[in-house]
Amino acid sequence: MMDESSVLDGVFEQFLRNPPMFRDREVLRHDYLPERLPHRENQMRCLGEMLAPVLRGARASNIFIYGKTGTGKTAVVKYVLGQLSKKANESSLPLKVCYVNCRMAGTEYRVLSSLCDSLDASVPFTGLSLGEVFDRFKSGLDTRQLLLVAVLDEIDALIKTRGDILLYELTRINEALSHSKASLVGISNDLRFKEFLDPRVLSSLSEEEIVFRPYDATELQDILNDRANNAFYSDVSVDGAVRLCAALAAAEHGDARRALDLLRVAGELAERESTKLITEEHVRKAERRIEHDRVFEVLEHLPSHSKLVVCCTYILSKVNAQHAITGDIYEVYRELCGQCGMTPLTQRRVSGLINELDALGLLNTRVISMGRYGRTKKIGLGIASNLVRDVFISDNRIGQLMNYVPACIAKAPPKKK
Ligand code: ADP
Ligand code: MG
Repeated sequence: MMDESSVLDGVFEQFLRNPPMFRDREVLRHDYLPERLPHRENQMRCLGEMLAPVLRGARASNIFIYGKTGTGKTAVVKYVLGQLSKKANESSLPLKVCYVNCRMAGTEYRVLSSLCDSLDASVPFTGLSLGEVFDRFKSGLDTRQLLLVAVLDEIDALIKTRGDILLYELTRINEALSHSKASLVGISNDLRFKEFLDPRVLSSLSEEEIVFRPYDATELQDILNDRANNAFYSDVSVDGAVRLCAALAAAEHGDARRALDLLRVAGELAERESTKLITEEHVRKAERRIEHDRVFEVLEHLPSHSKLVVCCTYILSKVNAQHAITGDIYEVYRELCGQCGMTPLTQRRVSGLINELDALGLLNTRVISMGRYGRTKKIGLGIASNLVRDVFISDNRIGQLMNYVPACIAKAPPKKK
């Protein structure tokens, strides 16, 4: 028998023997900023025009940008701000650009503290009130005599969970500045975001607006071809794959990120087979792989009670091929809670969790009429049961429950066929 290290040696040797496909893999990653952004010329020009007053030392209008994910908002804003900074540098203007992703920052405090960081006005991780941090930001900004352009990306994520107080303060900041000027660029992936905002905040944030429409399949093809030319060596053939990636991503919601993911994974699969032809079959495989990874990730990060509900559905699907009803799930759920020392939620809450899991595609539910007995819900897994098993088996709490036979089922008479 070969030991593991010699097996691995073989793998590595094989990899190195194959002629390389990727000139630069990074080019297909989300955060890579390409030199060209085809089909976004209008948005770039608009944004450039709106920000240009900064080059004469004036305050630019606040700008609100929205469009679905993967429509190039982040890329365009970073690109335009990069160019603006360059221009400002040439004439030694005191322009400061700072970019914060609000979803990653997570809290208003952290958004503000990263704004402070970019001014080198550092604040402690905790210990100050939001108001105090805001005051430091304001005075830090004013003493430095800057033209500030602050980008708040994925701002919808912050507002939905935390409200719009910070945004309210930020949109009014110029009233308190005498030596500096600040403009805001807010970016939202959620088109309904405006409904969450106080009308006063909305009107000052969106002095100007830019909308990013989804890409269609031909546009996505152009984008992918550009990226593929830099990512792969010229003897790698990608045309069929690019067409399919573009078509699949266009059919979803014109998401360039999705298209890039498909192409990158398809390329990696082809690489493993040491072929220089990336086929439609590779793209189909990539699609399944990505979906598998997505579900894996979602399952792994569910809150404990939701995990238990999925686990119950899994257990019930093993003992009874038919779909379970809400009552069954709840009974098994209570037992499992007992098994792992968790306090069960009410049936109403569990019904709510079932609806959420349905929306995530992890469960399938269907309301059926029981005639004069009213209506009930049939519930089954929305994903392969071995996937559920693979994820949960290594979970501290739930792993041991995967083979559990619930007492309520053991007691029940066998179901008639
Ligand atoms: P959004 O911020 O709207 O969700 P991104 O700007 O992050 O979208 O774009 C997603 C991915 O697609 C990034 O890798 C980006 O470089 C790429 N991308 C988007 N639009 C274009 C374009 N017009 N040309 C080239 N790449 C693009
Ligand atoms: Mg973005």
